[in-house]
Amino acid sequence: MTFEELGLKSEVLKSLRDMGFETPTPIQQEAIPHLMGDSSDFVGLAQTGTGKTAAFGLPLVSKVDEGKRLPQGLVICPTRELCLQISKDLEKFAKHLDVNVVAVYGGTDIRRQMQDIKKGVSIIVATPGRLVDLTKRKAVQLQDVEWVVLDEADEMLNMGFKEDIDAILDNTPDYKNVWLFSATMPKEVAQISKNYMDDPLEIAIGHKNQTNENIDHIYFTVSERDRYAALKRIIDFNPDIYGVIFCRTRRETAAVAENLGKEGYSAEPLHGDLSQAQRDNVMRRFRDKSVQILVATDVAARGIDVTDITHVINYNLPDEIENYTHRSGRTARAGKKGESLVLVNPKEGYKIKAIERKIRTTFTKGTIPGPKEICEIQLKKLVNKVIATEVKEDDIAEFIPAVMMEFEDLSKEEVIKKFVSAEFNQFIEYYNRAGDLNRKGGRDDRRNRDSDRISDRRDRGRDRDRGARREDENKTRFFVNLGQRDGLNPGGLLRVVCDAAGLNSSKVGRIDILASFSFFEADNELADKIIKEVNGVEYEGHKVSVEVTKKKAGGGSGRRGGGNRRGSGGGRRSFGGGRRSGGRRDGSYGGGR
Ligand code: AMP
Repeated sequence: MTFEELGLKSEVLKSLRDMGFETPTPIQQEAIPHLMGDSSDFVGLAQTGTGKTAAFGLPLVSKVDEGKRLPQGLVICPTRELCLQISKDLEKFAKHLDVNVVAVYGGTDIRRQMQDIKKGVSIIVATPGRLVDLTKRKAVQLQDVEWVVLDEADEMLNMGFKEDIDAILDNTPDYKNVWLFSATMPKEVAQISKNYMDDPLEIAIGHKNQTNENIDHIYFTVSERDRYAALKRIIDFNPDIYGVIFCRTRRETAAVAENLGKEGYSAEPLHGDLSQAQRDNVMRRFRDKSVQILVATDVAARGIDVTDITHVINYNLPDEIENYTHRSGRTARAGKKGESLVLVNPKEGYKIKAIERKIRTTFTKGTIPGPKEICEIQLKKLVNKVIATEVKEDDIAEFIPAVMMEFEDLSKEEVIKKFVSAEFNQFIEYYNRAGDLNRKGGRDDRRNRDSDRISDRRDRGRDRDRGARREDENKTRFFVNLGQRDGLNPGGLLRVVCDAAGLNSSKVGRIDILASFSFFEADNELADKIIKEVNGVEYEGHKVSVEVTKKKAGGGSGRRGGGNRRGSGGGRRSFGGGRRSGGRRDGSYGGGR
């Protein structure tokens, strides 16, 4: 289907060509022909990222009367960020039309917004509270409004805007059409549809209440007292993380961000106690990736539209299940993959089950990574970074002779060991003292234990079991340089290894596909063959590199995988010493992104 077939104005089609939109997304295909009709009440169940802004924005700008400078279209949305985003999009759609769009939202000077409206406006994009305020001041007339769009209706209701929304809808003409978009359909949203709409067309992209299938939902059961330590392990195990940690209260948010900051992690808080300017500043730094981790409350994080978020971490689950959908929806945007991780204590397993039921998805039981795995990954990153470092011969030339003299009596091996130790001792010491944080419980109470075992087994390839696991003396563990981001999955890895080394798939044991690299196990006697045959083969255009990560039992020749110092320290005493360490010096996270 093309945009030309949807009944939009030719000027709008021209804008779409300017913007490079070629094919309508499913929600646009379904919604636009209906919204272009006369009687067009509509309910769209769709996540952000599906193209829903254009689904309502294109017909809206096509339908407003260009000559008329009174508000005909109202778009109501939960946050200032979303408000600005939508008005920018509408302006782009209306570039070749004489349609005026004004954004009004709280937290800024209302008089300026009143002046903007006074100049004449066709479409107002507003947060509910500010719009009610403007109507009370008689700064905006709603009697000519023909279309009201409620975007992210569930979020607005969660934020307590029900009365404001009712007031707005009651103040607009009866003949108006209401177009409602929501990611979930709690009964309060269904109520709006019942009260204010006339036989609406209801479109669901995916199931109702279903979250994006590109998101892997994983939960970890830890003692309450280990919650923070577990969080750090997850971050340490994912050195390239670009994520949002959700907390339940402002206080908890501030405390977690502060602790992470103190320990050298690149983390900043986002919550309601910060001024708008502070929040804007944090968001800007997060967007440009000078900040790797945002620690946020649900309310503050609403409307965050950042495409590359790799992980959402639920430090504590929200009270409302709907909020879990909003949280996890911050990752896996624009067709990318993402992980939504949840920390629960042994008594909170029922919450996982409740979310599973509500959003019709299955959580994988994860294992908090053990010290050894974390050190392996961090060392690997460190080594890769050192190897990739550009040597500026001219700049260092004058210092090198003296440095060389200092190292004269050391062999290459000793020098390397000393550099690794200098970077890593505190980190390793911290983890040497650390134990297993995983606890029984969570979703797997007695009733569910058997089915969990089955699903754990089923998910063996998928499950990023991050914990200290029983070592199998007969198996060798391999590191592979490709991960999810390179399109690798367990089947793909199995195929590559077995095809290249001429093995039966039963010879390959556990497989862990991570974001940017992977591990697999195979029998010890196959190690040489795998290294020889698999190294250098191609997987979807990427060259595969395989290394042994674990010393074989009995002292084989296996090398240990190294690690790269990531953007932060590993523990109470982050290596490199607190703030000095890691990513701050690197300037950004990951180093290799
Ligand atoms: P939304 O769900 O409205 O937040 O849109 C998600 C992203 O997809 C935005 O960056 C849009 O600009 C983009 N987008 C929406 N519709 C299309 C389309 N038909 N073709 C290409 N990109 C689109």
